[in-house]
Amino acid sequence: MSKFAVIIDQKKPIQLLTAFLQHGTIPNALLFTGMEGVGKRTTAMMFAMACNCLSKEPWSFFQGKNQATKDRTCYCKACVKIRSGNHPDIIQVKPSGAYIKIAQIRSLRDILAMKPYEARMRVVIISDARAMNPSAGNALLKVLEEPPGRTILILTTIQSSDLLPTIVSRCQHIRFNPISCKSLEDILVDKEGLDYDDAKIIATLAKGSLSKALSMVKPDNRVSWINRRSWLIKTLSLDMPGQLSRQPVVSFLAFAAELSKNKETLQDSLDVIKSWLRDVIVYKHCPEKIINKDLIDNIQHASQKLATRELIAKIEAIRTAQKGIKAGANLRLTLEAMVMQLAYEPQN
Ligand SMILES: [Zn+2]
Repeated sequence: MSKFAVIIDQKKPIQLLTAFLQHGTIPNALLFTGMEGVGKRTTAMMFAMACNCLSKEPWSFFQGKNQATKDRTCYCKACVKIRSGNHPDIIQVKPSGAYIKIAQIRSLRDILAMKPYEARMRVVIISDARAMNPSAGNALLKVLEEPPGRTILILTTIQSSDLLPTIVSRCQHIRFNPISCKSLEDILVDKEGLDYDDAKIIATLAKGSLSKALSMVKPDNRVSWINRRSWLIKTLSLDMPGQLSRQPVVSFLAFAAELSKNKETLQDSLDVIKSWLRDVIVYKHCPEKIINKDLIDNIQHASQKLATRELIAKIEAIRTAQKGIKAGANLRLTLEAMVMQLAYEPQN
């Protein structure tokens, strides 16, 4: 498990899981849904520990887990084995390549046909269950139809519609929330040592995902994200309203080409531009609520020059491009059209 094996902002899921443990009514199968990086897998591992811990009452296991600061790590034999991934009865199934293949589910079935080695409760965690191809899904359905004893299956995925309805209907569904901006900021400041302004920017861009926030502040990425923002805003001359449309078209095309090179960061880069445009609008009404506080001077300048209507049109142009890209539209053409719209200034 990662060093951030904490569960944040998941009050409801924790209440439900604690109730199962308290009443000893643990379902045969659980389905954890929610966006990437909100703690589904961490919670599944914690639940496996709660079911098997040798020193604490199972139902007390999640108590205090909402507090990132307290170390409540249990060092009993079972918990240590589970944490290190060496417990024979805590089985993890993950996509091998792009898919969870039928061979993986078949070998799981063979294991489940035997009794657990040592666990009170065997736990199977199928991560990213949407990666099951149809034949793997059908093989898993057979397991769910005849649940093996002393075993719980936990499936994780983004949304329940990713899975066969016949699978969903056999699982107790637990929904995980996006993590609040405030909680992400606190972690970035307390645990990663970011200053408050940088933490606010990264927390906003991470949109509720702790894993995404943490990946953005990896030593190699941290500076690069803040630099990337400056580059984006400078290149678009967003800090110099009135200049934008005076640049030669060829420089927009070069910018679109540069953006399209890095597909992994593209959507985030577009979010950065949106957050800046949003700030320019927000500044007009509540200057204290802007996100990019360190850019306040150029945001102030831009807010005097650009009308809200224009800014909204630009944000809309980015949204349209983001949707198009997700739907598989031609990257270069989409970005070129978007950059042109960002550059366009209505002549009064
Ligand atoms: Zn323990």
